[in-house]
Amino acid sequence: MQIYLDNASTTPMLPEVIQLMTEVMHESYGNPSSIHRHGRKAKSIIENARKTVAKVINASLGEVFFTSSATEANNMVLKNAVQDLGVLRIISSPTEHHCILHTLDYLSLHKKCIVQYLNVDKDGTIDYSQLEELLGDSSTKTLVSVMHGNNEIGTMSDITKIGEICKKHDALYHCDAVQTIGKYPVDVQLSHISFLSGSAHKFHGPKGIGFVFISNNNIISPYIHGGAQERNMRAGTENVAGIAGLAKALEIVSQNMESNRDKTNTIRALFINKLTSEIPDIVLNGRQDNHFMSHVLSVSFPPGPKADMLVMNLDIAGISASSGSACSAGIEEDSHVLVAIGHPSERKTIRFSFSTFNTEEEITYTIQKLKTMM
Ligand code: PLP
Repeated sequence: MQIYLDNASTTPMLPEVIQLMTEVMHESYGNPSSIHRHGRKAKSIIENARKTVAKVINASLGEVFFTSSATEANNMVLKNAVQDLGVLRIISSPTEHHCILHTLDYLSLHKKCIVQYLNVDKDGTIDYSQLEELLGDSSTKTLVSVMHGNNEIGTMSDITKIGEICKKHDALYHCDAVQTIGKYPVDVQLSHISFLSGSAHKFHGPKGIGFVFISNNNIISPYIHGGAQERNMRAGTENVAGIAGLAKALEIVSQNMESNRDKTNTIRALFINKLTSEIPDIVLNGRQDNHFMSHVLSVSFPPGPKADMLVMNLDIAGISASSGSACSAGIEEDSHVLVAIGHPSERKTIRFSFSTFNTEEEITYTIQKLKTMM
């Protein structure tokens, strides 16, 4: 049996997406910048895809740009907001993805701006009142970068609350919505979002294609220079099949958002139920009230030599899940997110992450196997 429980890392592509991309690669191979019919055909695929993304996040067409990944989108926003919009301070959280944190390290190391980190509680929820205080204390031009859903522990932020605080204090708001796009409603206008990023491979689309939303009020310069693609905002011949696949996947998952969430919630609840009844001393990381993503479950196992081997033993049993640790100089250490929430490092964390492709039988099988490994 092969069981895939690493959907926060990447997701299998939907068959409809593979089919469409294959057709596009066969039939729409023109360069979208060419003015002849082959080019125009490819261009129209991109523009239709843009419409899909804009509709899902309630943006206008001119505010959506395709990028190679969310990593690129996040780099673009943070670096170019500093360069072009006079941002002198970025407020973020210590539980952001590395593509945010390492970019902030770069900006602060090169003295491009000041970076301040919000406190997070033991579940990874940011301190909203601290955000309000920091913004109220200084009139320095500020960008706030706080993600929607945490990829490691599943905790969700109240993005509308953050957006409102930012609006009140005239700060820009950048939201990494990679884990929530297509799974939870995101409305850039309602939530006063200035910049937002998404990535197709997290919602059953292809890898190597993402998008960035840049609100009309905050025009930044291109991050990658070259041709006039993406209305001069992102040079490089477009990944037409990838863009088509991104839009197709987003369209399908968005249409089924609630029922998909119900399915992953059921799978998650079943997993928790069986796990906690079969294995003693289990701790769940991240919020467990309604501010969590239904596809992510971070489990902390009691310490011991067997716990250290869990991810490997699961792999041998045909079950793919993700370790909550990072290997540094040959030593396994808790990830930056687990460190930020004060997770006891002697316990072993595994992230199980689900999609609608997972079945109850798979969960039952996984728990049976886990039991034998403890
Ligand atoms: N942000 C978050 C929250 C993620 O989970 C990921 C991927 O793991 C990224 C950004 C990076 O996305 P991409 O793979 O498109 O570069």
